[in-house]
Amino acid sequence: MKLIDLHEDMGVTSQRADIISSTEQSNLREISRFEDAVIFGVCFPHISVVNDRAEELSKQYGHPARSTVPLWDDLMEQLKFYKYLERKGLVSIVKNHSDIMKQGTKLLLSLEGTDCLRDPFDLYLLHDLGLRAVGLTWNYDTKFAAAAMSRKDYGLTGSGVELIEIANSNNMIVDVAHASRNTIIDTCSLSRKPVISSHGNAKGVFNHVRNLDDESIGAIVKTGGVVGITGIMSTLGKEPSIDDMVKHMLYVGDNFGWDHVALGTDFLGIDDTPRGFESISKVKDLAEKLGDRADQVMWQNPLRVISQVLHE
Ligand SMILES: [Zn+2]
Repeated sequence: MKLIDLHEDMGVTSQRADIISSTEQSNLREISRFEDAVIFGVCFPHISVVNDRAEELSKQYGHPARSTVPLWDDLMEQLKFYKYLERKGLVSIVKNHSDIMKQGTKLLLSLEGTDCLRDPFDLYLLHDLGLRAVGLTWNYDTKFAAAAMSRKDYGLTGSGVELIEIANSNNMIVDVAHASRNTIIDTCSLSRKPVISSHGNAKGVFNHVRNLDDESIGAIVKTGGVVGITGIMSTLGKEPSIDDMVKHMLYVGDNFGWDHVALGTDFLGIDDTPRGFESISKVKDLAEKLGDRADQVMWQNPLRVISQVLHE
């Protein structure tokens, strides 16, 4: 089967483990067993614990320990690692939509959170370095957009508007996973290209601060985008299993249209995994449960978005 996974934390994991062949949730050797695979290779420059709010969130949601390395430097290290994988011949990095046709495992480089950007124009540099997707926030508010965990949902700022325009004109995918409701609504009404939520589930199935309410899903759908259902335990339901992932997919598919359902595992970014969905090889079990819908969800829908946004 063919797989597009909208979110795997390979960049930060590479700083402490071997994602080429030995990391348990996902590694390049396992991914190469798929007939074809495009993985969104995420860069996640850590955010320093700088204030009480950060500590509070850290305790509440069990955020990982954070680096004291400047965020921009951290991002460069992760991009260099992806380039290393390409130089080694292990992956090819997707820059244009035609790159999807290349043989072997492909990575589409994606930034999680804009905390490291000094201003919106940094996106031009990152595009030159191969980045093709930008997630507006992680769990903290940024100078561009409010996060899902914000205490004051101000949506997009003026700089955020500029950021979306630059992403659109540079053929970069805008990702609203982790963003607040107003950020999602603002972004979707502004963007001229399909918008994605790379890894987040539906509030209509399970009420969690990171999950998307119906209005947010509707806004993403209106752009022609996709919602990547994810394996993050706390957002799936009580005693989460692979069947809960199916439930979230059914909810989005049946209520908003099956053209808008996709998968973003968050493998290598989560500590625990749902029962029955412990590693990338279990995507096949998920596909089996989806039956006729599997190819559409795992391949066709995200492929459509990539093709539309990354056209030359
Ligand atoms: Zn995330």
